[in-house]
Amino acid sequence: MSPTPASTSGPHQVLTALSETLEGTIVLPDDPGWDAARAAWNLAVDQRPSAVVRPRSVRDLRKVIVAAREAGLGVTVQPRGHGASDDLVGRILVRTTAFDEVTVNVVARFARVGAGVPWGTLLNRLDGTGLVALAGSNPDVSVAGFLLSGGHSWFSRWKGLAAHSIRAVELVDATGALRRVTRDSDAELLWAVRGAGGLFGVVTTLEVDLYPAPELFGGKILFPAEAAEVVFGAAAEILLDAPPELSLFLGLINLPDVEGVPQLLRGRSFTQVDAVFVGPADAGEDLLAPLLSIAPVIANLCGTFPISHLGDVSGEPQEPSRSLDWSRTVSDLDPATIASLVEGFHTASYAGLTMLQLRPLGGMIGDATVGDDGLVGHLDAGFLLFAAAILPPGAPQPPASDRHLLFQPLDDTVQAVGVPRVVPSMLTSGQDLGSAFTPAELDRLAGLKRRVDPENLFRSNRPLPSGVLPGGTTPGGSQPGGGATSALD
Ligand SMILES: Cc1cc2nc3c(=O)[nH]c(=O)nc-3n(C[C@H](O)[C@H](O)[C@H](O)COP(=O)(O)OP(=O)(O)OC[C@H]3O[C@@H](n4cnc5c(N)ncnc54)[C@H](O)[C@@H]3O)c2cc1C
Repeated sequence: MSPTPASTSGPHQVLTALSETLEGTIVLPDDPGWDAARAAWNLAVDQRPSAVVRPRSVRDLRKVIVAAREAGLGVTVQPRGHGASDDLVGRILVRTTAFDEVTVNVVARFARVGAGVPWGTLLNRLDGTGLVALAGSNPDVSVAGFLLSGGHSWFSRWKGLAAHSIRAVELVDATGALRRVTRDSDAELLWAVRGAGGLFGVVTTLEVDLYPAPELFGGKILFPAEAAEVVFGAAAEILLDAPPELSLFLGLINLPDVEGVPQLLRGRSFTQVDAVFVGPADAGEDLLAPLLSIAPVIANLCGTFPISHLGDVSGEPQEPSRSLDWSRTVSDLDPATIASLVEGFHTASYAGLTMLQLRPLGGMIGDATVGDDGLVGHLDAGFLLFAAAILPPGAPQPPASDRHLLFQPLDDTVQAVGVPRVVPSMLTSGQDLGSAFTPAELDRLAGLKRRVDPENLFRSNRPLPSGVLPGGTTPGGSQPGGGATSALD
């Protein structure tokens, strides 16, 4: 690649010139629609990039890369913005919504999925095939964003963290070259995109494994809020012996008194168990039976369902809102830890917590033999914890320094039983990849970054910790390598 001459134009001129050549769209800060274009899914994250581009083609992406380098800007990709975490100052925000291919190969059991496709679209296409992909709880999250950042799926106890299901990606790298990354073409880069996929280029398409699952059973079971300790204890007990085909998400929830929540449930608190079982209904019912007698059941919505209805199990909001969130992992859920977490949920001050969720790990997630060909590896922990406070419309934004009012009691609990590693897709504001990976893995990532993107053009929502990349890695630095032919020469 020929070095790009230092620009004599400022970013605004470069971006204005870019807008005249794109097939897709670009929105600049003074344009109408700027606030909608830059918004993250979590409206508490205030993103202020230099431009928001919706490319329509690989050619467009190459133009964005040239412009970013010329203007001295970084590039961050966000298909849906669920993982947004910082201000994006000095970057071009790329939305890959136009990359919308979904091709399902039932015989070879894989799907080709464009980088703008949300999980709901892929799951709809899998109905009737008897196959599933390693999806998470929310159908609005993109397949690309989820898989490239690790992915804790409903099916992960059965098949491992979801990034391992990436067979291949096609990405436009810092030289503008479109690379097809497979184990044969570049095993090291495939290893890295299975967990830190936002650091090396713009992925346009992924090829992902599909798994036979002819029958699915599950749903939501609601209990009174006061039953949380016994229900969580009984569920943890069930999981000790259950096959990995069973996954349970345990939760405490304060439902707001707002439109959209069914009248009967508004303003009330519940304990909930969301269940997914890969197998027939009678076997699923047998596994859940001990739960149904441990506490009064307010509602039991379990039944068989097609894969397109996976998102209904948790019924998470799909509309953007303002929230503060927190995520950790713990080794075990003994009764004292459960009691302390439940107390932490109820005593959180400031706005109070909207939800606390405990997701089981174990099964293939903890199996060291799956780990070596993907950065996301395996996770030697018992439960993933997630908590969030959804701020009511109009409520003031608490300063970052006040987060402890919400999460300190939970933090205190995990001090004793916490594991110093979380699933990277569940990293929350203020956490970087140092909370997900070991120093040796970070060094390996940095080495690859020097080979594939030495100017540090591509900045993920989930960055490397400061200091991991040595100097000379800002846009305008040294030359990319890695053997791909430059498309920008
Ligand atoms: C309501 C909700 C439910 C969730 N449920 C789960 C769950 O069940 N399990 C779980 O593990 N996580 C879950 N998450 C976390 C979510 O999976 C991650 O935040 C994921 O990264 C979101 O993907 P996105 O495309 O929506 O986000 P974005 O913020 O748009 O993208 C996230 C990051 O992925 C990378 N990226 C995405 N696309 C590309 C691309 N084409 N090329 C290069 N890099 C790219 C970038 O680094 C980007 O910064 C949930 C999040 C929310 C808000």
